[in-house]
Amino acid sequence: MDFRNLDATAVNVISVYPKVLDILNGKIPPPEVAEFFLTNYCSFKCLHCRCAGTHEGKNSFIDFNLYKSILNELAEIGCNKIEFGGGGEPLEHPRITEILQYIKEKNMRCGLITNGYALINDNELAEAIAETADWVRISLDAVSNESYRKIHGCCDLSYNSLKSSLKSFVQTAKKNNNSINKTRLGIKLIIQQINKNELEQVLDETLEIGADYLQFKWLENHPSAIPVDERKRISELLCEIKFRAGETIPIDFLAGYGGENEQNADKPCILSVLHPLIDWDGKVYICAFFQHRKDRHCIGDLSVKSFDEIWNSPEHKLRREKVNTHECVTNCPIKRYNPVIDFINREAYRFHYI
Ligand code: SF4
Ligand code: SF4
Repeated sequence: MDFRNLDATAVNVISVYPKVLDILNGKIPPPEVAEFFLTNYCSFKCLHCRCAGTHEGKNSFIDFNLYKSILNELAEIGCNKIEFGGGGEPLEHPRITEILQYIKEKNMRCGLITNGYALINDNELAEAIAETADWVRISLDAVSNESYRKIHGCCDLSYNSLKSSLKSFVQTAKKNNNSINKTRLGIKLIIQQINKNELEQVLDETLEIGADYLQFKWLENHPSAIPVDERKRISELLCEIKFRAGETIPIDFLAGYGGENEQNADKPCILSVLHPLIDWDGKVYICAFFQHRKDRHCIGDLSVKSFDEIWNSPEHKLRREKVNTHECVTNCPIKRYNPVIDFINREAYRFHYI
């Protein structure tokens, strides 16, 4: 890879290159970010939800004291970035505001993947997010009441109310004058049959909301996915949308996790160690894509052991070595960093000679 062609995702990995070199030398450094599934509960029933099969009831929320003790340990080993995703919907945790406030208390920062619906009429939650999150990515997936209800599987949802609350969130985030710590709001749309005729409108809505970036991702291996023979037309439309957006907002096109990419299956998993997953019950997994191999991907239970004990155990090393990448999601986002790892391995000798 030519360093002149490195894209923005490369910066993430290059900024932690000493840890990358440690991994290449067989060590297990502390994670750079820990992802939490705060719950396995979600009140939505999205057609495309990859975790729908593992959703549980309202008792599947992480214990607040356990959460705090995990954060204390992570802070001690220098892991100061937390990502909240799912699993279930993180903002449905009954103590979510306190969960976010504890991030602030520990001088940590977070990223949040959410449907955003809990923001409606909850200013305290919006304030807590704006004070602690580097970014919030809203799984919007539709820009009209009708398609929003169909895609998210609930007939009483209101896209218009969500849109108003997102606009208001942007104003809350803007109150923060620190340009580095300001929360960036992202809008994401999983392209599928129901929303394929709303794609042009998505850009206008995103700009009206005042979001900082927009992402489109293909739904793959699913009855609602766009058939192959329609994709060329939609891809051309997406290029037109990006062209129309010009400099107003960055737009990313992402491959669906499950697409066809046989070659990718052979590539090794290197960087998962920088981004482990902590489930609502305290179990730690190698990565967020563990649901179909829970036993083999689990490296320990934080309700009975410390993070340090789990992280530095021989069992962790063994489980990592035994990961069968042919069981992984085809387009795993962690693997997109592999070419940058080659670059670091080759060029790190000169990094500090500015
Ligand atoms: S909002 Fe997210 S977690 Fe909830 S059903 Fe939809 S995709 Fe799944
Ligand atoms: S899905 Fe596989 S390749 Fe991706 S992070 Fe997990 S173990 Fe690694």
